[in-house]
Amino acid sequence: MHTETNENSIFPKGEKTSPAYFTGTAWLNVLVPQDERGNYTIGNVFFEPGCRNNWHTHPAGQILIITDGKGFYQEKGKEARPIAKGDVVVIPSGVEHWHGATKNTSLTHIAITNITEKGAVDWLKPVTDEEYNSVH
Ligand code: MN
Repeated sequence: MHTETNENSIFPKGEKTSPAYFTGTAWLNVLVPQDERGNYTIGNVFFEPGCRNNWHTHPAGQILIITDGKGFYQEKGKEARPIAKGDVVVIPSGVEHWHGATKNTSLTHIAITNITEKGAVDWLKPVTDEEYNSVH
């Protein structure tokens, strides 16, 4: 998909993400596969409008740096937080959450994900349309 957002993006879109973990279409560009000490990975994620990832946790946390567009970040049991270009989200270890675009705008963020012997991410259930629609 060729959009104004992509023309303005910092990094190439990369590869389509697995539909097992995303509702809608997202793209991942792995910027740093794993640092030399194996402590973190850095990726650029582009969510097309309406796209969000599944509920998930990070055993050692994650940081999101939003570089373009608008979307939401929601922790289980809490109100969704609107996020937009320039925002930074610090996600604590083991907290169930999801992130994604709004219905009508794309979202691009850099994700810095810590890695431990427990891995980087544990994927859970998809965010249902009911859950997603309730945050708009
Ligand atoms: Mn996450």
